[in-house]
Amino acid sequence: MAKRANDTLKGSIYGTWQMDCGVWGIRTRNVFCYLIVGDSSAMLVDTAYGQGNLMEAIRKITDLPVICVNTHTHYDHSGGNALFEEVWAGPGGEKDAVRKKSLPHPSYALRLLCDGQVFDLGGRSVTCIPIGAHHPASFAFLDEKGRNLIAGDELDPCQVLLNLRGDTARKDLLEMHRNNMLKIMSLSDRFDRILPSHNGTPLDKSYLEDFLALSEGMLEGKIQPCETVTGFGWSPLIFGGNRKLERYSCGKASFICRKERNL
Ligand SMILES: [Zn+2]
Repeated sequence: MAKRANDTLKGSIYGTWQMDCGVWGIRTRNVFCYLIVGDSSAMLVDTAYGQGNLMEAIRKITDLPVICVNTHTHYDHSGGNALFEEVWAGPGGEKDAVRKKSLPHPSYALRLLCDGQVFDLGGRSVTCIPIGAHHPASFAFLDEKGRNLIAGDELDPCQVLLNLRGDTARKDLLEMHRNNMLKIMSLSDRFDRILPSHNGTPLDKSYLEDFLALSEGMLEGKIQPCETVTGFGWSPLIFGGNRKLERYSCGKASFICRKERNL
């Protein structure tokens, strides 16, 4: 494979920063990946778009073997999976996980995560928790030593995109998201902060209550769509003018949904 450069005339493709408690953030464009470093191995959560050379960015942080997992397999989370011989993702992830031919292992083995599966990184373990709604194969990763819950696109400070793809009814997705929030809240004495994949990190745990109130309010028909899909304190360029979508919000939580005639 030709050497892929991270440093371009516009700057480095991957920005990395060390957070407290042994977790590194790796940012490219609008995506946050996370690297949890144990004593004997490290876990990379998500591979973003697969641009440049993500492995080179990781090797500046650690020489340990790297276990690669996906929060879910959308193209902006699994684009660099083919850097690895083996990647772990939730059941169903095999349908849309990206296999870039320009990367070293386009035929990589996709291993399926189980509910409650634990990865031992040496002095640090990570527990896998299914939380599918935004994507049916979503998993959260609980890093108890660092007291972090990595939540992918199922929690987000700007919006969770609920039913932009697929044909699952909004009501069913809202029930799934609500149940996932209850499941995560039942574990909340094991983490202090939530690490999402976009728009700002870390999040306070109070987002769980706001998202729970939002899904319950929508299911009960008590929350009406916002006047505009744009905004929510963010650039009006985001989703601006898309008449097929609508935004709902409650407290700090917001969903963007495809319009449906009957909820
Ligand atoms: Zn996604």
